[in-house]
Amino acid sequence: MNILLLGAPGAGKGTQAVLLAGSLGLKHLATGDMLRAEVKAGSELGKLANSYMLRGDLVPDDVMIRMIQERLKAPGAGKGVVLDGFPRTVGQARALDSGLERSGLRVDRAIYLVVSEEELVKRLAGRGRADDAPEAVRRRLVVYRDQTEPVLAHYRAAGRLKEVAGEGEIDDIQRRLVAAAK
Ligand code: AMP
Repeated sequence: MNILLLGAPGAGKGTQAVLLAGSLGLKHLATGDMLRAEVKAGSELGKLANSYMLRGDLVPDDVMIRMIQERLKAPGAGKGVVLDGFPRTVGQARALDSGLERSGLRVDRAIYLVVSEEELVKRLAGRGRADDAPEAVRRRLVVYRDQTEPVLAHYRAAGRLKEVAGEGEIDDIQRRLVAAAK
């Protein structure tokens, strides 16, 4: 079972993806967490990624696609994954679909965590991450609208998108997600 958790920056994908992966016995793969680990380790990839991240821009598709393909092949991803923060462009979505297909797998569910723009801005302002400076937040929301929203249309057209209300109590949102993953 491979599940995508889609949604705007600040929609709560990280929090919910950890819980969802735990309750379904799947591996949680978060590209933002992987990139932050590379930045912290001071690797070449981390140095490259950091400049994009601090501006609120996306790290180039080729880098991200290579990164996710490696993780999907790694041990522990066998029962399936909850992907959090990937795909963020239609190019990434197509690469993911065809990569999984080559292994006889597919995206079983694409779940869109719906949160109003007003609530997103409020949540992002209270988070305090290095890339949560006001300029970068504004840029991330624009990039999301331009480059990531088309990913929703991609999976909607494939008949695989489900929408879940992402506002309210964490436990209630999680219950809705578990139901949508069935
Ligand atoms: P996140 O933790 O998912 O909000 O990601 C933090 C930052 O990492 C994003 O603003 C991007 O700069 C970068 N990033 C994470 N995932 C991706 C991805 N799939 N494609 C491109 N950039 C990404």
